[in-house]
Amino acid sequence: MTELERKQERAPVPSAWTYAPAPEARDIVTLREQYGHFVGGEWLEPKETYTTISPATEEPLAEVGQATPEEVAAAVDAARAAYDNGWSEIAPSERAKYLFRIARILQERSREFAVLESLNGGKPIKESRDVDLPLSAAHFFYYAGWADKLEYAFPNQRPRPLGVAGQIIPWNFPLLMLAWKIAPALAAGNTVVLKPAETTPLSALLFCDVLRQAELPPGVVNIVTGDGRTGAEIVKSDGVDKVAFTGSTDVGKAIQRELAGSGKKLTLELGGKAANIIFDDAALDQAVEGIINGIYFNQGHVCCAGSRLLVQESIYEPVVDKLKRRLTTLRVGDPLDKNTDVGAINSKQQLEKIQQLVASGAEEGAEIYQPPCRLPEKGYWFAPTVFTNVAQSYRIAQEEIFGPVLSILTFRTPEEAVEKANNTPYGLSAGVWTEKGSRILWMAERLRAGVVWANTYNRFDPSSPFGGYKESGFGREGGRHGLEPYLRLT
Ligand code: NDP
Repeated sequence: MTELERKQERAPVPSAWTYAPAPEARDIVTLREQYGHFVGGEWLEPKETYTTISPATEEPLAEVGQATPEEVAAAVDAARAAYDNGWSEIAPSERAKYLFRIARILQERSREFAVLESLNGGKPIKESRDVDLPLSAAHFFYYAGWADKLEYAFPNQRPRPLGVAGQIIPWNFPLLMLAWKIAPALAAGNTVVLKPAETTPLSALLFCDVLRQAELPPGVVNIVTGDGRTGAEIVKSDGVDKVAFTGSTDVGKAIQRELAGSGKKLTLELGGKAANIIFDDAALDQAVEGIINGIYFNQGHVCCAGSRLLVQESIYEPVVDKLKRRLTTLRVGDPLDKNTDVGAINSKQQLEKIQQLVASGAEEGAEIYQPPCRLPEKGYWFAPTVFTNVAQSYRIAQEEIFGPVLSILTFRTPEEAVEKANNTPYGLSAGVWTEKGSRILWMAERLRAGVVWANTYNRFDPSSPFGGYKESGFGREGGRHGLEPYLRLT
């Protein structure tokens, strides 16, 4: 170590960096008092409603419909009528035109959507602005490009649409998950009934405005809001030909049971407990950034989050030291502040789940570290957390926490890293940090994960298929593969 490096190593942690508030203006978003269901291109007055809030302040934002079975049936009928009355038959280049329009409008209105996404979901504005919105628009652009090239994507297989797709999405990336679902479904010529998550319906409801602006024919996309009961109604509806679900493994299994033998196509994108694996030859500072991005991005509400850190034993201490130092610089707080790194936990229910699992970690014998940070009094908050001294059998090493909580384990050899990484019922993603290309390939061949990132983490691109193994689900979203679940190939 050089003298300079030694000095840097000992440099005091900047514990009291103060930042002036940098709030994003909220007035770009105009909220209505009440939202109905978007059915057949019109707003349907809801029979029942509930209040959606901002998780950062618990402030009520709007009244939103809790769709009844009749309202779900009306949405499915509207989707069927739109499918039969032209959407499945129009020239594919026309379908592409609508998708391009939607993509462009999302770009034009991206600030408005980003603010709304942070307001209703609690995620930092810099993430909704720089990740959720650009990627959502990119998905529509990408699938717009495929709409009139399906014959080339699936040569000699006569690709045809399935009919009505029922789509149920979670609360961690509300608009992005909507884009992942709607863009390929429409590109393939299907119509859609989509339900956003109970806690984050507002960006999907604002998206209905985009559909109108794009002059999408009525009924091609229908949005109904509500809790799990609404999702269950969509799943069992006879008028739905395909179900696409992203959410918890438990609900995914229930949906699979419900659909068994029905002939409906199904894709499930479920949970994960990914290993982020750091070898001793990795660029450590870069890897530490990757660890931070892997688990604290979006408060750890990420199905592919790098929630298990596997560190090679010889570099355990420097990695943990660097990580703890970096944690002290994370700014937790107002999601609408442009300096915020970690926002609010999405709901009270999710906060309780995180608290419970963290308590189990401490009880089972792991050592907890949280950087000093003052959490706001109102709203749902959890400090970034690291557990060391974790055994593989602990709940925090086995179960999906879906919060800003990292469990650190060690390994000695690449074989042991693979074994530990694969020791999970899930198989969605993994990360490998090493300077050796051959080792990356060796690891990627053996990791039972749908996505393996090398010297990076949580990178997404619409052209790249995403999906899981084992209890992380089946089917792929993104890329040419993402079209397949929405097509009948003969
Ligand atoms: P859910 O699986 O309950 O929610 C996902 C979506 O499914 C929501 O729209 C939900 O509605 C809906 N839903 C709930 N029950 C049913 C049902 N019986 N039939 C059809 N749809 C249904 O996840 P939770 O929000 O309860 O989160 C629980 C845990 O799941 C998290 O802690 C996390 O571990 C995991 N999770 C994983 C996600 C992923 O991306 N893989 C995303 C979200 C959660 P509603 O919003 O009303 O519940």
